[in-house]
Amino acid sequence: MKDLTRVVHLPDVSHEGFAALTAPTYRASTIVFDDAYAYANRKHRGPDGYTYGLHGTPTTKTLEAYLTELHRGERTVIVPSGQAGATIVFLTVLLPGDKVLIPDTAYPPVRGFCVNYLQPRGIDHVVYDPLIGSGVGDLIDARTKLVWVESPGSTTMEFQDLPAIVAAARAKGALVGCDNTWATPLLFKPLEHGADFAMEALTKYVGGHSDLLLGSITVRDVAMHRRLKDTTRMIGIGVSPDECQLAIRGIQTLGVRLDHVGRVASDFAQRIVGLPGVERVLHPVLPTCPGHELWRRDFAGASGLFSVVLKPNVGPRLDAALSALKTFTIGASWGGVRSLIVPMDIRPDRVATTWREEGSILRISIGLEDPRDLWDDLEQMFGAFAAAVPGEVA
Ligand SMILES: *Cc1c(COP(=O)(O)O)cnc(C)c1O
Repeated sequence: MKDLTRVVHLPDVSHEGFAALTAPTYRASTIVFDDAYAYANRKHRGPDGYTYGLHGTPTTKTLEAYLTELHRGERTVIVPSGQAGATIVFLTVLLPGDKVLIPDTAYPPVRGFCVNYLQPRGIDHVVYDPLIGSGVGDLIDARTKLVWVESPGSTTMEFQDLPAIVAAARAKGALVGCDNTWATPLLFKPLEHGADFAMEALTKYVGGHSDLLLGSITVRDVAMHRRLKDTTRMIGIGVSPDECQLAIRGIQTLGVRLDHVGRVASDFAQRIVGLPGVERVLHPVLPTCPGHELWRRDFAGASGLFSVVLKPNVGPRLDAALSALKTFTIGASWGGVRSLIVPMDIRPDRVATTWREEGSILRISIGLEDPRDLWDDLEQMFGAFAAAVPGEVA
């Protein structure tokens, strides 16, 4: 072999005795075949086989296998973001003339996809009250192919009655997909409650370090997996093995991270009740959280994200109090090691329900800092609300 040939061929090295505890990062576009016969028959490898890097490598499949096992599913598809996790399900299930039901509390870009992408292509959506339970059946007609669930709802934390929704949807032949990002499969397994799709933004708790974007869709049915893979293949969607490797690593510490942030968030939520400027705390350990009983019935615990509804008169003091925070940082995409806080205005987003509370909502994501530093920060902030409007605050 001449040098110019040699340089493009990988040298053969021994793997014998190499046993590591890590998931290797396999990078590939081209997949090569042993012979012309194997190449000619590559289509028969199916969605589980290797034919092209875009469709998966052993690294992708390791992450898929993790999620499949944790969700007690049959197959998983990894996509480039949580948003793609939702949109790929919608694009796979819905054809022009069909209809999808989404909760009023859906992650806002999912509603945006329905309004700005599906609607112009002849696919309708109906927004429903997330607390409607089996009443969702009244909204399902012959055109309704999918009911989307997000439990708890973004920011306002409504826990949905997934088993009741599944029963109503099944009775009318509609599929059910559930955005399970808040709970992760460690705290809730939508497929075990009858959902057809368990979707997760791995960007959040699975990644866990605010440094990757990925989503997953886990299904109970091999035929549905094939349909999802057909969609991603035809659109040309794949994910980098580097992102998958980070997510695999994230899964390995997910248990201890969730346990910690769950305990701290539950403790803080209970201590925040009754602090100056607080109207209501939206955390499932509290009966004031909508769907509290459903959470107790169906979930194995709480993660580290919750919300606080402020009294309206806190408004003028809010920006200064937030800007004075020392350990919390202002930012949106939660689930990482740093604690985050953001003021949210959800009223413009509600169309099927009416949000009556006038005050701002603070969404709080607990991270891995010392809880005493975090509590000092919160005490300082809520303390600053005490004087918002003299005589009016509790
Ligand atoms: C963040 C989030 C998403 C979207 O995830 P990305 O990876 O940021 O696209 C979807 N659903 C929920 C509930 C989320 O919090």
